[in-house]
Amino acid sequence: MEKPRAEIGIIGGTGVYDPGILEDVREIKVYTPYGAPSDLITLGTYKGRRIAFIPRHGRGHQIPPHRINNRANIWALKELGVQRIIASSAVGSLREDYRPGDFVIPDQFIDRTKGRPDTFYEGGQLCHISMADPFCPQLREFFIEFARKLGLRVHPRGTYVCIQGPRFSTRAESRLFRSWGADIIGMTLYPECVLAREAEICYVSVAMVTDYDVWAEKPVSTQEIVETMRRNVENFRKLIMEAIPEIPRERTCKCGEALKEALI
Ligand SMILES: [Zn+2]
Repeated sequence: MEKPRAEIGIIGGTGVYDPGILEDVREIKVYTPYGAPSDLITLGTYKGRRIAFIPRHGRGHQIPPHRINNRANIWALKELGVQRIIASSAVGSLREDYRPGDFVIPDQFIDRTKGRPDTFYEGGQLCHISMADPFCPQLREFFIEFARKLGLRVHPRGTYVCIQGPRFSTRAESRLFRSWGADIIGMTLYPECVLAREAEICYVSVAMVTDYDVWAEKPVSTQEIVETMRRNVENFRKLIMEAIPEIPRERTCKCGEALKEALI
């Protein structure tokens, strides 16, 4: 049997992706040196593009952020031939003008996780991968433009502070992150994006704001949150799925040669 291949990888929540619209769908188990990925990987074709989908938290949303096997997820996508990763996530906002329902295409991150395995290079060959600009410039540009085209509110920049979780921040921490210049807060970006870079895969984070983090002390009703989530998920699905066939086939970035100046 022919080896399964995919070009575009999606790592995300179940809501943002609809396997029903794929052709030639199959679910495969990928074995990696790091153990099992978050779940079976769904492979399929959408408007001529081969995609592979991994639910980051597992199908039943049972894997907490600090237990995600990021190395297995990225390894598996690399193994399938994936060259681009679109990573969707829900984030809290650290500033007034990044409102619930808005999209953010982050351009920087601050790592506040601890103890997460964050490299494929554990010894022998050393690798110091560049993180000055952690995300694929071509995909960032593309998603900013595409979100605008769809009429979505999108912020073209953002510093994502990735906390360890699974707990939320204290008010003091939230205020501290704001003073550092962080714009959004979440638990899943790191080290996913770093590992993708080590694997020389383009990586873009497409984040949606679901709430103001605790600094804001804004009383929000549960009903409001549920309603925001519902609206966002529809926009999210639209943004990701409608973008896929439009992604330029040729990579004009340097992500594919990230190891060139990183290996010793
Ligand atoms: Zn790239």
